[in-house]
Amino acid sequence: MEQSSLIKPVLGGAYPTISHGQGVFLYDKNGKDYLDASSGAVTANIGHGVQEIIEAMVKQAKQVSFVYRSQFTSDAAEKLAGKIAELTKGELTYSFFVNSGSEATETALKIAIQHWQEKGKPKKQKIISRWMSYHGITMGALSMSGHPIRRERFTPLLESYPSVSPPYCYRCPLQLDQHTCGMACASELEASIRRIGSENIAAFIAEPVIGAAGGAIVPPDGYFQKLKKICEENDILFIADEVMTGFGRTGKMLASEYWDVEPDIVTLGKGMSGGYTPIAAAVMTKNVMEPIMKGSKSIIGGHTLSANPLSCAVSLAVLEYVERNELVEKSADRGNYLIRGLKKLAGKYSFIGDIRGRGLLIGIEFVLDKATKAPFPKDADVTNQIIELAMRNGILLYPAAAGLDGVTGAALIISPPLTISEEECAELLMRVDITFGQFNDSIGK
Ligand code: PLP
Repeated sequence: MEQSSLIKPVLGGAYPTISHGQGVFLYDKNGKDYLDASSGAVTANIGHGVQEIIEAMVKQAKQVSFVYRSQFTSDAAEKLAGKIAELTKGELTYSFFVNSGSEATETALKIAIQHWQEKGKPKKQKIISRWMSYHGITMGALSMSGHPIRRERFTPLLESYPSVSPPYCYRCPLQLDQHTCGMACASELEASIRRIGSENIAAFIAEPVIGAAGGAIVPPDGYFQKLKKICEENDILFIADEVMTGFGRTGKMLASEYWDVEPDIVTLGKGMSGGYTPIAAAVMTKNVMEPIMKGSKSIIGGHTLSANPLSCAVSLAVLEYVERNELVEKSADRGNYLIRGLKKLAGKYSFIGDIRGRGLLIGIEFVLDKATKAPFPKDADVTNQIIELAMRNGILLYPAAAGLDGVTGAALIISPPLTISEEECAELLMRVDITFGQFNDSIGK
């Protein structure tokens, strides 16, 4: 392919040009089809080319696409905020709209700091996160992320926020037994707070299911309840980063519902508009907002395109589509179907170490040896090899950053649109099987 002036993830890489998408399939200009088993970057939750979303987009564009949020509000933005308050239940009632997941977590960080400032505690500025996590690419969000490749070059410029161990039970970072560990990884938060002093900490941020940094790592029951209690006891806000998990991806509207914990701030993105337009949000409780409203009156944040009516109308149409078509329930159901099928493949291929996840956020971790769980060496680049083979076989898979430190295992994510049918799930499993068969041959197993 000729070099163009558009910067691509790998310059000179042979990126096919997509001509159109329909349902769970994308088609390139040569007519080849790709089963979108990654929903792009875990984003196209309702699939491609949904007519009623296009109609909602055109309808809003004909009225007005952009108004500046400091001058006007719009029906689209007001209705979307109402819909999110309804879907997220509980006390999460105030939405602030931005354009990407990174902006949402960056905004959450600032809201947490502002909240404590307004309460007369300006020293509370640090954010604790987990060393296996991804919260975004901007400098604040990256400072809270444990994602080796994306941090590497910028580390000296990042805030040195503290981090604690993730609940990565397949390879416990603390080398403990899951049945007797007492969730020592959660207790690390308490130890960290004691060391730093709660008077210096604004918030703890975590993805309910670790996505891009680990490959759909689900915590044990009780883990988040324990973390939330530690946060409450120490006057620290709990931010749930649901940019990837939100709006049904894991088989619940929010993944934090699995453990009945109510975050103080939730960040949303990706599936919020299913990729039809850029939009994301930080959503917070009255308790978080009250001192801000009494003090500065509003959040010190926002972007030129925040709450633009076009993206808000599209997001509203997408969320109504999710509800009307019961996609949250379907996600849980199809996820179970796919996990069963993938577990069968794990019996066939010795390099599959772990199948995990919830709903349609499914992780596969690769090993050199199932019994010892020995990981592939870092330079084997297993995840990318499999993803490239898969693309040739017409199936899109999503890489996880695990496996880059020689300690964690290489992993990838399977996350098709929540609209996927059972027949399409069977097709997905067939294309994955072909891909794994070819990889197996290539490593001579
Ligand atoms: N938070 C989580 C949990 C994510 O998975 C991502 C992206 O993968 C982000 C934040 C950043 O979102 P964006 O790429 O839209 O900036």
